[in-house]
Amino acid sequence: MAMTTAIVGGRMIDGTGADPLDDGLVLIEDDRIGYAGPRSGREVPTGARVIDAAGATVMPGLMDVHVHISLSAPSDLAQELIARPVGEVAFEVAQNLTQTVAAGVTTIRTVSDLAHLDIAARNAIANGKMVGPRLHPCGKGLTATGGHGDLMPCWLCQSHGDICEVVDGVEAVRAAIRRQARAGATWIKLFQTGGVIDPHGRIDAEEFAPDEFEIAMQTARMMALPVAVHAHNKTAILRCIAGGVRSIEHGMHFDTECAEAARGTETFFVPTLTVMDRIIKHGAQAGLVDYMIDNVRQRTTQHHEFVRYAFDIGVNLACGTDAGSLLTPHGSAGREVVQFVNCGLTPLQAIQIATQNTARMLKVEDDVGSLQAGRLADVIVVEGDVASRVENLEVAGNMRRVLVGGREVAAEGRALMH
Ligand SMILES: [Zn+2]
Repeated sequence: MAMTTAIVGGRMIDGTGADPLDDGLVLIEDDRIGYAGPRSGREVPTGARVIDAAGATVMPGLMDVHVHISLSAPSDLAQELIARPVGEVAFEVAQNLTQTVAAGVTTIRTVSDLAHLDIAARNAIANGKMVGPRLHPCGKGLTATGGHGDLMPCWLCQSHGDICEVVDGVEAVRAAIRRQARAGATWIKLFQTGGVIDPHGRIDAEEFAPDEFEIAMQTARMMALPVAVHAHNKTAILRCIAGGVRSIEHGMHFDTECAEAARGTETFFVPTLTVMDRIIKHGAQAGLVDYMIDNVRQRTTQHHEFVRYAFDIGVNLACGTDAGSLLTPHGSAGREVVQFVNCGLTPLQAIQIATQNTARMLKVEDDVGSLQAGRLADVIVVEGDVASRVENLEVAGNMRRVLVGGREVAAEGRALMH
């Protein structure tokens, strides 16, 4: 017999951008939503498990499409890569996954991780061996020699290696994509420019040559793998849009021209505002070198304006935080929602980005990202009225309940072990 759960009362935000609904009702049968709408006139079926959402907001689980699940928010990335045996990292991955769901994040995409642990985690969660969010893995990212993802100190040879494969030349790039697919990755990640943690203006340089970039796009397209690209400068961003990448990560220089090029395409902009905010707020205290903090601080106001412009003219935006990377904890999608509000969006618009729009980016919008009959029951019950107090999403302790596929995986900000 079907197991029925009823979430009663509370303000319902369905993720589609529609106005919140007071006194909502969500009925879950097994792993899917049977009904989501006003409570009036609907009976709660006898025998149903009832979750009281009075004083809370009921909404779709949050999504984060820029996560490094094998990193644990260090202040020194190179140290993070070399100091831990791979077995130890695996246990940290398990902990990072529980921290993720405890914060109301029910779907993630990983964008470069150690030892294909992201793929292993995806399988373990899917097989019920571990608690965690739905996971779309890139496996190891692809980076050129000395590229932004080439993080290992050059005097160390690789054992379990970097979070990236270092590849140069057309044949090597093509083979590396095939290796990610063989390992079980369902996305491909490329690093096309330097980043805010790089010195000497590398953020303005490109890394893969045009023929390497093109072969990556062509190979991924042939294998039906969508591509996510780390790209900050305008030349790289325009190259990505023209090449048909699915998501552009960070995009500090995603200016009006880039936005106009992206409008009407299937390319999504994932600005990862959270990691930038964390570097500005906590960088000095954590001992980051000045140029890293300056790289971000000098560009942030403009970055926020670019995000707002892109949103206003209809560019696709998705929610990614860079969780696991510098000073950015796992389970940060709620922080990204607040950051979008800081860019000038309304809370409902920002929530729609972190739910329905991000689901569209992953092409899973018929299953998750909104509270509608027929969707999988990835639902969070958040303390208070999130539409007027969006910062409630930032604190895991505000997550009264977190359900993935109707199954309760966290409560009161703590993951439930099964
Ligand atoms: Zn990243």
